[in-house]
Amino acid sequence: MKIFNDKKGYLTSIMLILLLIPLILLVIITIEENNYNANNTIENIKSDKLDAVTKEFEDNIVLISIQSVHNITKDVLINKTPLKNSSKSIKELIQDQVNNKSEVYKSEGYIIDCEILEISSSDDPFKLKLTYNINSKLINDTRRYNKTNEVYLDLINEYCPVYDPLPVLKTNADVINDKIVYEDNLMNFITLNNNDVYNNSIESCILKKCPYEDYSSHGHSKEAIINCISNHYYHESHDGLCLLCRLEAKDTCSHMGLETFIVPTLIKDEAPVSIDHVLLNSTHNGQYSGNKIILNNTTIIYLDNGHKTKYGL
Ligand SMILES: [Zn+2]
Ligand SMILES: [Zn+2]
Repeated sequence: MKIFNDKKGYLTSIMLILLLIPLILLVIITIEENNYNANNTIENIKSDKLDAVTKEFEDNIVLISIQSVHNITKDVLINKTPLKNSSKSIKELIQDQVNNKSEVYKSEGYIIDCEILEISSSDDPFKLKLTYNINSKLINDTRRYNKTNEVYLDLINEYCPVYDPLPVLKTNADVINDKIVYEDNLMNFITLNNNDVYNNSIESCILKKCPYEDYSSHGHSKEAIINCISNHYYHESHDGLCLLCRLEAKDTCSHMGLETFIVPTLIKDEAPVSIDHVLLNSTHNGQYSGNKIILNNTTIIYLDNGHKTKYGL
């Protein structure tokens, strides 16, 4: 190593080393930064993945809930037995299904705990409000996603219909091919004169929303009211029952509710009013009569002044 032997060579070495130090530091910093960036990218990917999977799970909660409402309304209709606490029953059914879903996700590396907090009626009687808390993480990872959320379940779904069990629970009528075949059941349930006009009435039992949003327009044309009646559409009503109260076979309801027409089979001047919450009400004075309204050769209904005004008839 001659370089260290003469003074000039010694100085050259020192300078060389001094020049090399910042270079080495620069290399170290660059490597660290690359590592940091790589780690950061992995962290971001994990975070994005957790967000995406949690969102997917939340979409599943909504689908499971709509399916559960379909199933529970169908069961009540078939068993002809009202629920004691419909909100609790639906909540428990959704929770069971959601827990099953969590197991599937666990096998794929995601820990997702979801608690169904509440199912309740909403200001829109064609929707139920669902509140849940979701807590999710990847296995072997400290990152967590936690939130409480409210969603509104649409009760009008072509593929997953919601049934109205109230007529069957009140009158014990039979259901044949999604139709309530009253025979003499409704007539016998009604305690007013001329109850026989409802002998052999037949109605659908699937919840459908009336497309005539301005209710008074029902009376603008015979076509509108006949279309509404023949499709057994439902309308918003303060006096009608919400779905949760229908499942419990109540007579009245403090929530925003629903009402539909029940079409009689006989013509008289006056008879019990052809609205479901009137005919299916067993409280004192809950049922009342109205005047006939002839809609066409085969269809008439009986209405009181309040309902005549509401529907523009
Ligand atoms: Zn209507
Ligand atoms: Zn209610």
